[in-house]
Amino acid sequence: MIRLGLIGFPLVHSLSPVLHQAALRAAGLEGSYSLYAVESHNTDRLRELIDCVRTRDLTGLNVTIPHKRSLLPLLDALTSSARMICAVNTIYSLNGRVIGDNTDAPGFARDLDRFEATPASALVLGAGGAARAVAYALCNRACAVSVAARDIRQAQQLAGEFAGVTPLHLDADSLAGVHADLVVNATPVGMFPNLGETVWPADLPFPAGAMIYDLVYNPMETQLVRSARAAGLRAVTGLGMLIEQAALSFELWTGTHVQRDVLMDALAPSLY
Ligand code: NAP
Repeated sequence: MIRLGLIGFPLVHSLSPVLHQAALRAAGLEGSYSLYAVESHNTDRLRELIDCVRTRDLTGLNVTIPHKRSLLPLLDALTSSARMICAVNTIYSLNGRVIGDNTDAPGFARDLDRFEATPASALVLGAGGAARAVAYALCNRACAVSVAARDIRQAQQLAGEFAGVTPLHLDADSLAGVHADLVVNATPVGMFPNLGETVWPADLPFPAGAMIYDLVYNPMETQLVRSARAAGLRAVTGLGMLIEQAALSFELWTGTHVQRDVLMDALAPSLY
């Protein structure tokens, strides 16, 4: 019996149970995926759940906001990517030790491969956890990365940890004239229910020929994606990344490959 789950708070809109229950069904595995709503101050409950992973009462857990970073000191070890990104979204037990991993970075990279995108330069908007995972993935591919944040200190901190990343202020003056083959929105701007919002400054043209990748996946066509398409650019949301990172977590826990289209079909009724 495989017992999986998600730690976070709040968890009401999570699509992870739909994805992982579909993966269990497709793999013919008996198991469950539960939601563990744990507020940020409740370290005792977090320790309890991590102990359950250590003893294998739980096979593995996903981790989301607000614990992706705060959980790090409670784990026995981190993979090198999780250490560099400084955030975990997947934990599992190996030889009695609880390991923290990050499947957001390879999830993003694999989704880029799906679009056969091989950017030489990229502009990442936002400098939080997802931006760090994206910057990590892009830097590993020798892509020249600029990170723009509304608080320049956040971009500077990220740039200080990832060699070769250029920090920028997220405003029209700083972004004007920036060349990028790929622009990634790693902020929540445009996410349901704020459907009309976009993080890209009004009246500023997109970098010529850039592909626009919006990590936001709900709605299926964000305002940013709509504007980019209207400007004749290739633009996608982060649905593929969501599916990839889930499938990679599932593979870590069960050793079983899961067909991505099975997950996409399972998700379809839950999307706007
Ligand atoms: P996070 O750690 O909270 O970081 C959010 C970043 O966005 C911060 O730099 C924040 O800056 C910035 N930001 C927030 N509101 C902004 C605004 N109105 N204008 C400009 N910047 C703003 O969140 P995260 O975990 O990185 O997630 C970011 C987004 O990516 C979320 O929508 C999440 O759902 C999505 N995501 C998608 C996937 C996927 O699989 N597709 C995976 C991970 C994350 P401040 O600190 O100044 O607020």
